[in-house]
Amino acid sequence: MTPRSRSKLITTALGRGLRKRCPHCGEGQLFSGWSFFDRCSVCGLVFARNPGDTWAFTIIGDRLPIAVMIVLIYFGVVRSHPALGVTMLVILAVLVIWTAPNRWGVSIALHYLSRVYWPDPADPIPSPFVPGPRQ
Ligand SMILES: [Zn+2]
Repeated sequence: MTPRSRSKLITTALGRGLRKRCPHCGEGQLFSGWSFFDRCSVCGLVFARNPGDTWAFTIIGDRLPIAVMIVLIYFGVVRSHPALGVTMLVILAVLVIWTAPNRWGVSIALHYLSRVYWPDPADPIPSPFVPGPRQ
């Protein structure tokens, strides 16, 4: 795998995860509402073979926005400018909730990339997906 194809694989998989699509084929959906599917309906990729496989990536994706909120409180934006601070906290809280599926999709894509770069024979990844004509 060349460095160029490696970076393309990473950006493609992360972009698909951000759009809540299967990181392998980009066609299947990751979520139905607020719950995620076990496998891709198009290519058959199992998104998380074991419960908690994406836990570390999800923790990072969830904790970073919350850390921003804590920094805002800690440095006194809320105390020194109450209206601005409360507005910022409300906007951040809405963003944290609204973008949760997108961040979880990126977590699944990061887990997928870790499986591609450190393959496990007991955890087969479907063959490269070539999309056919849409029907
Ligand atoms: Zn797929």
